[in-house]
Amino acid sequence: MSSWVPGADGSGFGVDHLPYGVFSRPGEEPRVGVRIADQVLDLAPVAAAEMLDVHRVLEARSLNPLMAEGRRVRESVRAWVVGLLSDESERDLVEPHLVPLTEVALHLPVEVADYVDFYASEHHASNVGRIFRPDAEPLLPNWKHLPVGYHGRAGTVVGSGTPVVRPCGQRRGDPAPTYGPSTRLDIEAELGFVVGTPSELGTPVPYDAFADHVFGVVGLNDWSARDIQAWEYVPLGPFLGKSFATSVSHWVTPLEALDAAWVDLPGQDPEPLPYLGPGATRGLDVDVEVAVNGEVVSRPPYRTMYWSPAQLLAHLTVNGASLRTGDLYASGTISGPEPDQRGSLLELGWGADDAFLDDGDEVVIRYAAPGTAGGRITLGEVAGVVEPART
Ligand code: CA
Repeated sequence: MSSWVPGADGSGFGVDHLPYGVFSRPGEEPRVGVRIADQVLDLAPVAAAEMLDVHRVLEARSLNPLMAEGRRVRESVRAWVVGLLSDESERDLVEPHLVPLTEVALHLPVEVADYVDFYASEHHASNVGRIFRPDAEPLLPNWKHLPVGYHGRAGTVVGSGTPVVRPCGQRRGDPAPTYGPSTRLDIEAELGFVVGTPSELGTPVPYDAFADHVFGVVGLNDWSARDIQAWEYVPLGPFLGKSFATSVSHWVTPLEALDAAWVDLPGQDPEPLPYLGPGATRGLDVDVEVAVNGEVVSRPPYRTMYWSPAQLLAHLTVNGASLRTGDLYASGTISGPEPDQRGSLLELGWGADDAFLDDGDEVVIRYAAPGTAGGRITLGEVAGVVEPART
């Protein structure tokens, strides 16, 4: 399907993509928009002109009210927007509400409710195991039985482009721990999943209800201070080494735009327990690219993950924990089998002291996937510059 919007076809942001974001023009309140080519479609006034009730949730300053409407509304709004941007007869109605990206500010698209980060790449988990525990089995005994994860800090999830201040904290020292700016500031290239439809406390969400609850996908950088992390993480897991900032893309790609991107994951042995849907391990063929100061340092393939996004959701609710609209859960660092497919500087530099970020370094993570029209779609990028510590 093609669009009447100039430059849309083949841009990665055509009518086969249509990611949602929150934008504002100078002096105006933020509201929901859809990206097409290098423009934002201001949806609320178009919906109001067509007397659609949905215009109220499109006037919100986050995607949460729209996402809370559930899967049927998600699908019907998308079908409506596809029609607006592909049907030439809608041009007179829509064109006045297309705003160039250069004239808008983009905001954090989701009011993040709870945030969970997983550890679902076998290559990443094995690499980290080998770096930190060279004389032991790289994977711990539970790793292939459950998707390992932890609850992160929702309040420090920031939009792409937000500067990241180098965190201070405690590091292991000899003979005593020391305090100061992290000397091993790292990235983790991940994919994030945003929950739209909530679930009831006490009732697990089955793996096959993934598309009923997940609204869409964001790019995500889990900034990590390895020195702080290494000293604090035993026995309860990541804490201050992770919670200072997590960056997400401005654009949320709705699940429907990824219909052509589903692939079988590499396989699971031993077979996981029934609640994890053994045999139903479908992942996404998303190519990731990590650039530091403009130089591509890695190309991790998301299709090589061990645990699927549906399994992550089933596991995080299997104890009856409820989902809220705006919940965000992330894949964990995406690392492929090859050295140039590793999604963290820790792995790329194999633990060397000089492998990490300096003040002023800029990290950009980009994502692309097969689109439903036969080409490629470009998911939202995640950028951030490191600012000096505030001691
Ligand atoms: Ca992570």
